[in-house]
Amino acid sequence: MTLDDFRADNISNLFIVGTFAKKVTVLHQQTRALNLIHQLVEGGYLDKANTRIAIVGAGFTGLTAAAGILRKAPNCDLTIFERRDTLMPLQQGSDARWLHPRIYDWPDHGSESKSAMLPLMNWTAGRASDVAVQLSTAWRKLVAERKTDSKLRLFCNTRHLKVVVDEATKKAEKIEWVGEKREAANGATDSNASPEGSGEFEPFDVVLLCVGFGLEDEATQSYWRNETLAQPSLTPGRQMVLISGAGDGAIVDLLRARISNFRQDRILSEVFSDDTLTKELVELKAKYNGEEHTNLFFELDELLQAPELNTKFLDAINELRRRLRRDSGAILNTRSDSISKIFKDFEKRVSFQNAVLLFMLYKAGGFIPTCECYRDVQKRYNIPDELVIVRHGTKREALVSQILADHGSEQVRNALGDISKQSGDRIGWQGGYFGFPGKWEQRSELDGDELRRSWRKEYLPDATQIACATLCSAVAGSIRKRFPSTEFRLTFHRSMLLYEEPLLQQCCEYVMKDQVSSGTAGRTFTASSASIGLAYRLEKVIRTKQNVSHSELYDLMDKLSLNEAARAMRGSVRHLACLPILQSPDSYVGDSRVAGILYIDSDNPDAHFDDEFLKLVAAMLEDFGQMVSRSVGDLSEVRNVPLTTRQLNPSNKKADEIDFSGVFDLCSAIDPPIVDAAMQINLDETSFKNAG
Ligand SMILES: Cc1cc2nc3c(=O)[nH]c(=O)nc-3n(C[C@H](O)[C@H](O)[C@H](O)COP(=O)(O)OP(=O)(O)OC[C@H]3O[C@@H](n4cnc5c(N)ncnc54)[C@H](O)[C@@H]3O)c2cc1C
Repeated sequence: MTLDDFRADNISNLFIVGTFAKKVTVLHQQTRALNLIHQLVEGGYLDKANTRIAIVGAGFTGLTAAAGILRKAPNCDLTIFERRDTLMPLQQGSDARWLHPRIYDWPDHGSESKSAMLPLMNWTAGRASDVAVQLSTAWRKLVAERKTDSKLRLFCNTRHLKVVVDEATKKAEKIEWVGEKREAANGATDSNASPEGSGEFEPFDVVLLCVGFGLEDEATQSYWRNETLAQPSLTPGRQMVLISGAGDGAIVDLLRARISNFRQDRILSEVFSDDTLTKELVELKAKYNGEEHTNLFFELDELLQAPELNTKFLDAINELRRRLRRDSGAILNTRSDSISKIFKDFEKRVSFQNAVLLFMLYKAGGFIPTCECYRDVQKRYNIPDELVIVRHGTKREALVSQILADHGSEQVRNALGDISKQSGDRIGWQGGYFGFPGKWEQRSELDGDELRRSWRKEYLPDATQIACATLCSAVAGSIRKRFPSTEFRLTFHRSMLLYEEPLLQQCCEYVMKDQVSSGTAGRTFTASSASIGLAYRLEKVIRTKQNVSHSELYDLMDKLSLNEAARAMRGSVRHLACLPILQSPDSYVGDSRVAGILYIDSDNPDAHFDDEFLKLVAAMLEDFGQMVSRSVGDLSEVRNVPLTTRQLNPSNKKADEIDFSGVFDLCSAIDPPIVDAAMQINLDETSFKNAG
């Protein structure tokens, strides 16, 4: 991914975030926004103090890009323009719509995870209005943390906004606008500002268009407005709902109109109760999204005929049939003259799970398909306007041509060039990148505990933290009993592939004698560094030898840690042990068999965690690993959620050439605990019960 994924071909300092992309979810858009900031920072575009940046649009994307700038280029001047009255105006107060960061990946591994797992402006699944509240809070905090005199301005209700392009330099030179100045942190009105705003005209160095996808033209109501379609009818008789369109928005509304107690966050777990069926669907989805041309309707129909799955799929369809509302009927109006053609015409625009649910609803007799003009259908069935829902998509090009002065749609197409093919939605930044200001190479200049603590912190689910803290407290109790006079410190790290980078993440605060540290949970280390990295690569229990001198230990740590030791180990440590939990040798998740590592250290030069004690700890770890891999029983929505697809042909990584034999024991008498499964330790909330 490069800046050209975002840059308008013929306007060198104008960048567009996702407006013409195929994947339109909030998470894809936020990922694009952070990718763009990463590219701009690394490309040197934001190096100079007071570089003037304009962001047009204060939806999820605009605010995420702005958050990236506050963190990475705090000395730039930033101005945000929003056409409507508030930040994230589409989703504020939108209580009928539900957002999940990954539901559109269902039934893949990781689609259950409720967290967006973003380093900035992170959120968890909820009603759209709740997600807007989460992001408003995150944004407010970032603004409050700012320690710089550079400008941060927000204008709302921009009734006029034009980007003026200099045709000679091919640059967006200036922006003219009329809008109201607001508090940047929350969009509150500035008591000194005139409600009419004033006409302004200013130069900018970099312009980011974060204008989203626009509103649906003919829609009776925008998708994000509250309505009562999913609620039982209060009027007598059966109402007929007409839904026109064949995208995700139309299908979601069809499901809401026809299935009783429909909740987008529950329907998949309620209907799919069988693992074998879900596994078949994973394969079908890969085909649906792959290059091979498939008509999902025929594929699903074939699945329905397959002897071993027939009853399971029928059960799921019957479950949907039982749930059909008796107070409403529905007509689905599309351009296709047959149901199988609707599926053909999806052209992968419709998410897999909505396509599967549409197939099942059809089989359950949940709607009548038609390709007649929807106005004629409305007349014939005498359907009132409020029960006609039109989801014909939005006019994306118009959004951009409104903004570019002197650019009609033809010129906009020329100016944008290939941008309509843009993607940029696969994470391109390094882990920890958004924890510190400046370029990646500047991380070596970081100093001070504050920065170290915040550097490389990534999302850590609460449930994982509690479970690991409980494990560590239990081990701490055993140490206290067995070695009453030894000062010690311990914690647990889980291994994970994040953005395809193998990391070890500290999963709870350090448990110490009589106290607990604060602010270290969530930190991540490259899996190649320090003693935990050695245990990770060797897949063995390691322990410092007795009587190892301070200098021998620290010389080795220097070599092992690639200058990152200071982040992993305090200078006073004299004895340490690392105990990994291993996954099955045949099939494991990640870069090594290690699922997690318990780390114990002590400042006491005479401390020595002997074999007998480490065997006890290994047994505790094994039980912990088994408990996590078998999930956790009936804990409502807490489950161990896989985030990474398992490797089918794991490659065994060898430890590097560093000679550690003078310092570490490989503890050959202690077998590392093994969990007989491929798994990642990721206890988190999820309402999906069977996916994966
Ligand atoms: C029918 C429909 C259904 C969808 N369903 C889902 C879903 O279920 N899940 C999901 O993740 N995504 C869904 N999306 C996509 C979703 O809209 C986006 O993921 C999300 O809104 C992206 O945020 P954004 O900031 O890019 O765009 P937006 O939320 O649209 O924000 C853009 C902002 O720019 C402002 N703006 C536009 N033009 C100007 C201008 N000229 N001057 C100043 N400000 C301007 C707008 O007022 C707006 O606040 C759906 C989209 C549609 C159309």
